[in-house]
Amino acid sequence: TRALRLPAWGEPPALADVDVPEPTGSEVLVRVEAAGICHSDLHVLDAAPGALPYRPPFTLGHEIAGHVVAGSGFEAGERVAVHGPWGCGTCRRCAVGEDNYCDRRAELGWAGAGLGRDGGMAGHVLVPHARHLVPIGDLDATQAAPLTDAGLTPYHAVARLRLGDDASVVVVGVGGLGHVAIQILRAVTKARVFAVDVREDALSLAGRSGAHRTLLARADTETVLRRETGGADAVLDFVGSDPTLRLSAGVLRPGGDLVLVGSGGGKLTITKPGPLPQGASVSLPFWGGSRELAEVIALARTGGIRVETELFPLADAGEAFDRLRAGRVLGRAVLLP
Ligand code: NAD
Ligand code: ZN
Ligand code: ZN
Repeated sequence: TRALRLPAWGEPPALADVDVPEPTGSEVLVRVEAAGICHSDLHVLDAAPGALPYRPPFTLGHEIAGHVVAGSGFEAGERVAVHGPWGCGTCRRCAVGEDNYCDRRAELGWAGAGLGRDGGMAGHVLVPHARHLVPIGDLDATQAAPLTDAGLTPYHAVARLRLGDDASVVVVGVGGLGHVAIQILRAVTKARVFAVDVREDALSLAGRSGAHRTLLARADTETVLRRETGGADAVLDFVGSDPTLRLSAGVLRPGGDLVLVGSGGGKLTITKPGPLPQGASVSLPFWGGSRELAEVIALARTGGIRVETELFPLADAGEAFDRLRAGRVLGRAVLLP
């Protein structure tokens, strides 16, 4: 079976022939039907040796959907999405499916599928336990795969917010995660949704995704947003660079929530007084839990969210990564092994 592997830190990803793994113990072998490409994959490829706790080589791909081939806990042929954060399996967080906040993360040396452990940009993936699988029924795998991160991460981020019916929420960065975040905000809250991006076509996607107002990121964006929102109740920053963190802090109302999702490496100083308004909260959500993933899949199956995708055969992964890096993917790029 073919797999897209990170051979070593600093090397480009490479397609390799690998043996189809054999499930033992609690493991489940899944035939991959689709694997999404996340901007985090670029952060992994660009990481300096030692910056991340993972130990290459490993197969990339943390947004995975397919069907069960063999293993314990599921029937062969059952179609599933893979809950990608894999923790120790025994701590209090993992016990309730919140492997994304595993208490033993620091000891493990991986965050999950494709992030330190062999992931889904391959014909098959070996999943450590059936508890990481969510049935998808007849949902298209090219939808289910990106929903496991581009859907789950914003869903978890939004679920932690308390938004009144008159709330204003700003979404910064309308890429893979951002365009689904807008749909989730529209589906599960009454908030007025403002979307910001540097790309016109991303703003069109924001509009199609249900944003009430879209704005190109420019020098006056903060002023315009402050005027139009009267101060945002929450800002979801899906970029996390210095300029977006400055914008995010600048448009927040007193008592508002700054939700930093993007790993853009920007810095924000926390001091009193400082760039954040009084009463502000800052959160750093990571991915989401398996129960939340089941809710995201259910929402998609009833038509509440639809991921915009660009499909590539696994053999063209290099081209797909290049397009994402160049900011030329609209929505989510998804690989077909
Ligand atoms: P993406 O490349 O699909 O989307 C990023 C979007 O941000 C693009 O539309 C781009 O045009 C826009 N953008 C770039 N600079 C901007 C600026 N200055 N102002 C406004 N918009 C700007 O990326 P993605 O896959 O959606 O991931 C987004 C970020 O979230 C990445 O940093 C990724 O690593 C991170 N991420 C975090 C988690 C988590 O659990 N916290 C999970 C997945 C991804
Ligand atoms: Zn991701
Ligand atoms: Zn754990």
